[in-house]
Order: sequence, then structure tokens, then C-alpha cells
Amino acid sequence: MRRTKIVATLGPSSLKLISQLSKFVDVFRVNFAHGDENSRREYVRLIREEAPESSILIDLPGPKLRVGDIGRMELKRGQEVLFSPKGGITVEDPVFYSSVKEGSVILISDGLIRIKVTNVSEDEVRGVVLDEGVLTSRKGINIPDLNLRSGLTQRDLELLEEAISLKADYVGLSFVLSAEDVRKAKERIKGRAWVVSKIEKRQAVENLKQIILESDAVMVARGDLGVEIGLENLPYVQRKIISTSKTLGRPVILATQVLESMVLNPMPWRAEVIDVANSVYQGVDAIMLSDETASGSYPLEAVRYLHRIITSSEDKVRSTRPTPSGPDDAVASASLALAETSKSKLIVVHTRSGLTALRVSRLRPRSPILCLTPDPELARRLRLCWGITTVVVKGPSSLDEMVSLAVEHCRRLGVKGSVVIVAGDPSTEPGRTDFIKLHNLDEEKGLKSTKEI
Ligand code: PEP
Repeated sequence: MRRTKIVATLGPSSLKLISQLSKFVDVFRVNFAHGDENSRREYVRLIREEAPESSILIDLPGPKLRVGDIGRMELKRGQEVLFSPKGGITVEDPVFYSSVKEGSVILISDGLIRIKVTNVSEDEVRGVVLDEGVLTSRKGINIPDLNLRSGLTQRDLELLEEAISLKADYVGLSFVLSAEDVRKAKERIKGRAWVVSKIEKRQAVENLKQIILESDAVMVARGDLGVEIGLENLPYVQRKIISTSKTLGRPVILATQVLESMVLNPMPWRAEVIDVANSVYQGVDAIMLSDETASGSYPLEAVRYLHRIITSSEDKVRSTRPTPSGPDDAVASASLALAETSKSKLIVVHTRSGLTALRVSRLRPRSPILCLTPDPELARRLRLCWGITTVVVKGPSSLDEMVSLAVEHCRRLGVKGSVVIVAGDPSTEPGRTDFIKLHNLDEEKGLKSTKEI
């Protein structure tokens, strides 16, 4: 069983393959930077119809500057180019014209194409191509030294309402700058979805701990982050984001150029395979495919390869376990020790808030985690988290009932031998982890069924 989860971005290449992809994909991502309201709704409808078990991440565009619908343009080194709202390389956002200065370097398409600005007027920018390439519609523009004031735009707030009305399980916030951006989004979401903060600006790296604490999950958005901080700084910053997220108990997704060569080829590059394995060794919760599944020629092959690399890498190198930071974490940690010394096949977590599941998952146990919860929305959200399989159950009202419920589900799965049950006492407020039991399924005479209790 694979423990590291797979997130796949839906796009023209994968629309007809959702059902086949869902054999490997835990979470589908719909990128709200593209399409209109009808196509966005259609994407979500198709996922619900074709992959009812998968959860949905709706990614908001944030203050990302993009070129307009220009089709395809070949840019040659030394070529003079014009940016304007209507001609040349079209850019509509007025922020672009007020942000660039003579001498600025504009990076397009995750930094692949570089253009040096030679002249700026109110709604025109002229420049010279430094690094050539093929430019296509809707590609992102970065101006690395641009200091944004907020990561959330008015457009994001409108799209946020749309995402909530479509019942997204997670909402991705692009270009988060501070914990305040996350708080602002959460005030509107009111617990109806998890917030995934995408770390892709230098300012976000500087405010990393506060942003992670405020978020439900985090994404290492390597595309924009690499352009913003310089590719050479990416490996260390990626490591830092992953380890801080794990220490603070928030799931972390690794994104962008994961198997980029598979946009064009049916087989990945060695360096990509090793990058995926290294991120598994570092203990990411999930790995995301973008263009590989959205617009690439081999979406199914990419997902299959990712599955194979992950399963082959898990269990070979153990990621470091964060140390317990309080009594709840200590109980979660004890459940692992108990499972390991008793050679238990399964850790059964009963959770109402999700916290016990997250506390166990972040320690990356050897045994699989079966998570029982009475909350169907939480069950969907936990699909993103490392090692967790969820089942929705009727909420038990006592510890005895909870143990019986866990045993019933283990029996249904045909589990034998001992299992560890870890939870918060159902007769107290949700959020605690204060119960642990080693249960031998082969010696359960006298155990009442949930019906008898
Ligand atoms: C990224 O920049 O790595 C990223 C995931 O963001 P997007 O694909 O939305 O530009």
C-alpha cells in the first residue's frame, strides 16, 4: 500500500481519463487560474462523477501576472518585444505596467524566457529577449523583486466563494505572503474546506512558521518559488518547508516539474526519479503533478510512474520523526512504539477533529493507519495525509463502543493478530489524544459488539 499521496492536476489531457487516473490519484487539483465559470464547474462535476472517492483541491490564482491569449510566439535572443494590453505580448493587469522599471528582468514561463526591460510607459513595456524560447498563452510572469502587499486579490475572494459553493475539500492560496493572508481566507471559508498555503514568494519563506501554523496544509510551489529565490536556493528551502511542516504537524505537498519530461516522453528522466525518491525520503505527505497530467501527452504513464517510484522508495529510507511537543503528541508517539514492539498490522485512529490522525501521520509509522471518523468531510480531507485510509463510521459515545467499532472494521478487513487503537475519549471535547490500547484480534472473547452496547 502506498503511503505518500498523489495529487494530479486536471486539464485537457486528462479530462477523459479521470476514472483510470483515479486508481492512483488521491486528490484531483482544478486550477482556477484557467477557464471560465462553466468549465470550472464542469471539471468539478466530472471528478465527482468519475472519481467519487477522490478529494478535490481548487487552486486560486493569487496575484499572478500572466500573458494573455497570444497563441504561440517564438522569441529569439536579442529580439525586441512589446508588452501592452492589446498588442504584442498581451498583458492586461495594470499592476504589470506600474511594477516594472527600466533595467528590470521579466521572467516568463517559470523563468524559461528572460526579457530585459528597456522602456516603460503608462501601458506599454518594451524589452529585449535575453533567454529565448517558445511563449504560449496564459504563461506566468515573474518580476522577482516585486514586493506584493497582499497575496489575496479581490478576484481570489470571488473565486473562493465559487470554490466553496462547489464543495472543494481544499482551497489552494497562491502567493501567500503572511499569516494574515491565510487568516483572511479562513474568515470567509469558516471551516468549510482546508486551506493549502502555497509557498512561492521570498516573503512567505521569511514568514514560514507563522504561515504554516495558520494553514491546514502547505505546498512547496517550486515553479514560482524557484524563480523568486533562485533555483540554486530551492533544495535547501524545500527541505526547510518540509521539515517545518512536519514539525508543526501540517501535511505538505511537493509540486512542480516533478516528472516534467513526461509532458513529452513516456518515461521520466533519472534525475526526476531521484528527486521524487528524495522527497519521499524527506517525508512529504503528497506529490503533485501539474502539466504532466493537465496538458502532457502521457498523463496515465506519468501517474503510474509516480506511483511506482513512490512505492519503491517508501520503507527504504525512514524520514526523521519530529519529537513530541506535548501530552497529545506523546500519546501518538507511544502508539507507534506500541505498534512496532508488538508487530501490530495496523494503527486504528478514531478522530473527530482530525488532530489524532494528523498527530499519528506526521510521525510516519511503519504500520498503515486506518482512520475512523464520523465526519464525512473530514474523511475526504484526510486523503491528502501520509499513510491515512479513512472510513466514515457512526460516532461512538464511549471508549468501549469505540474499541468495538475499531475491532469490527479490522475484522471486516480480515486483519489478524494485534492492532493499536489510538484516539481521544469520545465523552470529552474533540481535539485530544488521550487513549491508547493494544488489542489482540485473535483473543477477543467477551468483547461486546457495538449493537450490544
Ligand atoms: C508553482 O508555482 O509551483 C505552483 C504550483 O503554482 P501554479 O502551478 O499555480 O503556478
